[in-house]
Amino acid sequence: MSESELAINGGPPAKRKPFPDWPVYDDRELAAVTGVIKSRQWWRGNGSNVSEFEREFATYHGAGHALAVANGTQALELALMGMDIGRGDEVIVPASTFISTATAVLCVNAVPVLVDVDPETYCLDPKKVEAAITPRTRAILPVHMAGHLADMDELLDIARRHGLVILQDAAHAQGAEWKGRRIGALPANAIFSFQAFKLMTAGEGGLITSDDAEFIERCFLYGNCGRPKTDRTYQHTLLGSNCRMSELHASVLRVQLTRLDEQIERRRRNAVLLDRLLGEVPGLVPQGRDPRVTRNPHYMYMFRYDDAAFDGLPRQQLVDMLIAEGIPAFIAYLAIHRTPVFRDRTFGPRWRADDPLLPDYSHVSCPVAEDISDHVVWLHHRVLLGDEADVVELVDAIKKIRLHTQRVFA
Ligand SMILES: *Cc1c(COP(=O)(O)O)cnc(C)c1O
Repeated sequence: MSESELAINGGPPAKRKPFPDWPVYDDRELAAVTGVIKSRQWWRGNGSNVSEFEREFATYHGAGHALAVANGTQALELALMGMDIGRGDEVIVPASTFISTATAVLCVNAVPVLVDVDPETYCLDPKKVEAAITPRTRAILPVHMAGHLADMDELLDIARRHGLVILQDAAHAQGAEWKGRRIGALPANAIFSFQAFKLMTAGEGGLITSDDAEFIERCFLYGNCGRPKTDRTYQHTLLGSNCRMSELHASVLRVQLTRLDEQIERRRRNAVLLDRLLGEVPGLVPQGRDPRVTRNPHYMYMFRYDDAAFDGLPRQQLVDMLIAEGIPAFIAYLAIHRTPVFRDRTFGPRWRADDPLLPDYSHVSCPVAEDISDHVVWLHHRVLLGDEADVVELVDAIKKIRLHTQRVFA
């Protein structure tokens, strides 16, 4: 371990060899894009990359059907509409997630009901889901946080008993498995994101998987201005928007999908080591692992930070110091009810703040989600794409900071 000056104070960074770059690409992505450009078929209406990508992604995930769209947020909105969720319906959403999980519900005129997450896995807590069900509840929207699946056994059981549907927010979970089954094969529709941080990317992109061909067809119509695939005479059949993915995006994503297995295996190996090494540092507790998650593709690497073990060093300073040491660290999501948009109900013209259907989100209490937003740090998943030495250097950087704070604050 280095005794040297902190990088934030001008010392040499603990991480000398940089982590692998993200996104990953080589000649195959370049050839794919060039091929589409030269073909002049840039639109899914006349190209074949989007439909091929849908087939390949669905097959890889064990799902019958897929619809590729422009981003994950639209995938959420289309899937909710395809499940016929609308005005006044309640959808149970974890209080700790990326904002789109909750705002997509509002965007289809339904009401997100925020429910707390499990303190180990940071995923929707089934025990608290049951208590939040009302006669208006229509759906549960679990998020597979950082690639760790929510407790699908319990959630599917609750849904069955109460006549609810489940939509999985699998924006972080390409390639994940629950008890040996790929998430597309679980009896619940799922959405994915291909935004630049995500485990496969074309800069932007989204996708819905399902075993229900009619549901996928409805989602297609909602995302294709209500226009059927074969229409040539502007026969728009329902109220929709344009959420189509371009051929250029799909061509890149088809190559990215072929990289997934090898990358997941590398991240898995490094995550096992990082769980062990970080777990040995006082004050750090990695996100828990449920053994029923038989394949965790590892999106962000999350751990809880107790500043008492670092002599009161604030989390933001730890993150700033880590970045200076060459470690891509970030602060976890703000709990949804603490974001200005939910706290103040600044939902725009779709929802007036005094709409009687809306709860007062400023009074929501979800202690675990709040604890996560106060104490959790996450690392970009590219820290898991290197070798063993990269993981050891990462932990050494944290130990260096801890040693230094103890000397400074002692
Ligand atoms: C990224 C993300 C989304 C939205 O995906 P975009 O493609 O960025 O619109 C939805 N849910 C979660 C949990 C996400 O992380």
